[in-house]
Amino acid sequence: MITVILKHHKEESLKRFHPWVFSGAIYRIEDEFGNEKQPEEGDWVRVVSDSGEFLAFGQYQIGSIAVRIFSFEEDDFDETFFVRRLQSAYELRRTLGLIRKDNNAYRLVHGEGDGLPGLIIDVYDGTAVMQAHTAGIHYIREALAEDLIQVAGADIRNVYYKSETTLGYKTEARQEAEAEGESVNGYLIIDGKPVTSREAGKQLESTISDVALENGLKFHVDWLKGQKTGFFVDQRENRALVEKYAAGRRVLNMFCYTGGFSFYAMRSNAEVVHSVDVSKQAISFTNANVELNFPGDERHKAFAADAFDFLDGKCPGSLFEAGKPGYDLIILDPPAFAKHKKVLRNALRGYQRLNAKALEKIRPGGILFTFSCSQVVTKDDFRCAVFSAAAQTGRRVRILHQLHQPADHPINIYHPEGEYLKGLVLYVE
Ligand code: SAH
Repeated sequence: MITVILKHHKEESLKRFHPWVFSGAIYRIEDEFGNEKQPEEGDWVRVVSDSGEFLAFGQYQIGSIAVRIFSFEEDDFDETFFVRRLQSAYELRRTLGLIRKDNNAYRLVHGEGDGLPGLIIDVYDGTAVMQAHTAGIHYIREALAEDLIQVAGADIRNVYYKSETTLGYKTEARQEAEAEGESVNGYLIIDGKPVTSREAGKQLESTISDVALENGLKFHVDWLKGQKTGFFVDQRENRALVEKYAAGRRVLNMFCYTGGFSFYAMRSNAEVVHSVDVSKQAISFTNANVELNFPGDERHKAFAADAFDFLDGKCPGSLFEAGKPGYDLIILDPPAFAKHKKVLRNALRGYQRLNAKALEKIRPGGILFTFSCSQVVTKDDFRCAVFSAAAQTGRRVRILHQLHQPADHPINIYHPEGEYLKGLVLYVE
C-alpha cells in the first residue's frame, strides 16, 4: 500500500481523529519500496507521522483535502470493513426507529458521520439512492451496492447510483464516464440482483415503486430527475414540529420543493396551505404529492414564484395581496446561500433580508420556522442574521425552538464540519 508521510507536527489533527488530511500537511508519498510516488485519485493509502508512526488509513484524492480517513486502527482494514461500517449505520437507523411500516424514507449513510467519507445513501421504500462525493467511492460503487443488499436484507432491493453532480468536474472518474457518452447515473441493483446492462436495467425500472412514506405521509421521490437524492430527508422532524402548530393557521411553505412541510400542516387541520418554489418542476412534484395525500383538497395551492416577489405581494392569489389576511405560520427553507467561506458575508446578508421580509409580513401571533442548510454558516452566524432581521422590523420576537439536522444525519464528534442544518422557530407579536 502507498504511504503518505506527514510533515513534522502535522499529525496533531489525526491524533484527535479528524478525518481529513490537507495536501499542505504532506511531506512525501512513497510506494511500498520507499520510492516517491504520485497516487491516483481513489488509491488507498496509509498515513504515518514523520517519525513513521501509523496514524490512519484512507483514500487519496486530488485537491485541498488529499486524504479522507476511513480508520485509525492499523488492523481494522480487511475485506469485511465496508460490511461492518454499513451494518453499524443500518443498526443505528433501526435503533432510531426510522424503519417502520409508516416510515421508510431515511438517510442510511451520512459520510463522515457514519465513518464512510464521501458516501451518502438515502433509502426510499426499498430503493437506496447512493451518492459519491469522491472518486474513491465512485470506483468501489458496485461492491458497496452489493454489501448494502447483504446488510439490509429485505429492506433494500434496489440501488440507484446518482453522482453526476456530486463527483467533482475534474475527477478522472467522471471524465472517463462522460468520454464514453454515458451518464454516471444508473441502477446498480434491481430486485436484489446486479444490473448487467443498461438495457436490462431499463426494462426492470418500471417495476420499482417511487412512493415513500415519511411519518405516514406519502411522497413521490424522483431520484432520476429530482434535486439531491430526490427528497430532503433531513427535515423530517422539523416537519413533524410544524404539524404541532399548524392547526387553524394560514400556512406559507416557502421554498417548498416536493411540498414536505405542507402536508404535515394539512394533516393538522391548517386553514390554508400555500406552497411556493421558483422551480416549476418542484411545483409539479408538490401538486402530485397533494394528490397522493389529500386529493382535491382546496385548502392547498402551489405557486411557481420567486420568494421575494411572493413576499412582496406580487403573486395573484397569495394572502399577501391587498385586502387579504396574510399568513400566521411561515416556513423559510431556502437553498444553501453560501457554498464557500468566501461568500459567507453575502449569504448572511441574504438570510437577513429574507427573514426581515417574513418577520415584517407575518401576522401578529405568527410562528416563523426559519432554516439555513449552508455548512459554512454556523448556528451563531445564522442566529445573528435572524436577530438583525428582527431588530430591523422592531417586532417582539421570541425563540421557541432551536432546530438542527435529525439523528439519521449524525455528526462525527471529531468532525464538526458535518453539522450543517440549523433552524429557529420564532413567535412574533
Ligand atoms: N423545504 C424543502 C426543501 C427546500 S430546497 C423540503 O422540505 O423538501 C430549496 C428549494 O428552494 C428548491 O426547491 C429551489 O427550487 C427553491 N428556490 C431556490 N431559489 C428560490 C427563489 N428565489 N424563490 C423560491 N424558491 C427558490
